[in-house]
Amino acid sequence: MRVFNFSAGPAVLPEPVLRQAASEMLDWHGSGMSVMEMSHRGKEFMGIADKAEADLRTLLAIPNNYKVLFLQGGAVAENAIVPMNLLAGKSGAHYVNTGEWSKKSIKEARKYCDVHIAASAEDEHFTYVPAQSAWNVGKDTAYVHVCTNETIGGVEYQWTPDTGRVPLVADMSSHLLSRVIDVSKYGVIYGGAQKNLGPAGLTLVIVRDDLLDRSLAITPSAFHWKEQAEAGSMLNTPPTYAIYIAGLVFEWLLAQGGVPAIEQRNIAKAALLYDFLDRSSFYRSPVRTHDRSRMNVPFKLRDEALDGPFLKGAEAAGMVQLKGHRAVGGMRASIYNAMPIEGVQTLVDYIRAFEQRHA
Ligand SMILES: *Cc1c(COP(=O)(O)O)cnc(C)c1O
Repeated sequence: MRVFNFSAGPAVLPEPVLRQAASEMLDWHGSGMSVMEMSHRGKEFMGIADKAEADLRTLLAIPNNYKVLFLQGGAVAENAIVPMNLLAGKSGAHYVNTGEWSKKSIKEARKYCDVHIAASAEDEHFTYVPAQSAWNVGKDTAYVHVCTNETIGGVEYQWTPDTGRVPLVADMSSHLLSRVIDVSKYGVIYGGAQKNLGPAGLTLVIVRDDLLDRSLAITPSAFHWKEQAEAGSMLNTPPTYAIYIAGLVFEWLLAQGGVPAIEQRNIAKAALLYDFLDRSSFYRSPVRTHDRSRMNVPFKLRDEALDGPFLKGAEAAGMVQLKGHRAVGGMRASIYNAMPIEGVQTLVDYIRAFEQRHA
């Protein structure tokens, strides 16, 4: 029996995708092979990768002057890969610090460049997104880096920063494809796949063409965006099976009506949970109302001593991975695209009943 899995990542995948992958496991489309066994340069796999890229371009309306790269190393590797690819001729870059993932990006970038903090939400324990009017960005900086959805703190940009001529670089690991975005406002978008796109092992990078000529000479070839773009992301063996599953997720999303349709469902799911939390005095959401994430919903019980019984009861009722990250404490429900509204409704029913028993 499948549970409702509220894990922050690796996370729930659409059940039809898993079923299709299972049915194609031993013999993909009459090839007599599993996708895992195919040469990445053979016509079968090249077709799978091309279709995945084309569908992603459709889903996000990616303009033609952007490359889509299927890489490895996760968003954590990109924390180093971004400065290596963008720093030529510059000494520093600006970072907006909205929480745990921003902090990791900043720490890693410091190995490669002068990091300037454009704005920080540390003063309020990372419970909000600093307004752009409070950002301090130098003109001669290589780029401005943001994390548009802080998976741990549950803080999400509900607006698009405007950094003018300075390239905007965004870690979108945990909300890419959950909402409509205007790709043309960004220089680089990156993310690990295991939150909302597919299995771990695949890193997605979307980069504007004019930014491909800014790398430092030390950039490793496997992480060199221009070299990888010229090689069709096959300078080294790409994570073939993860690309295949992500491709099935993209097909599933298109069948759901694309990103605008899934965004409406995500709004409804998040509202169901936040509205309940706001009406209760037994639970609370620590994040400022208009900066709350639709994907990752941290919440706290008034009495921490009840955290253990809460989690145990949830698991018994078929809901797993609700424990919050240690940096924040309490609970966290990750409700990505593949989490059905029935899962959120089941959670709300459980937390209401738990309150009634313990209040
Ligand atoms: C999960 C996550 C990461 C780390 O991704 P890896 O694939 O483990 O490298 C980085 N940033 C954000 C926002 C994340 O949610």
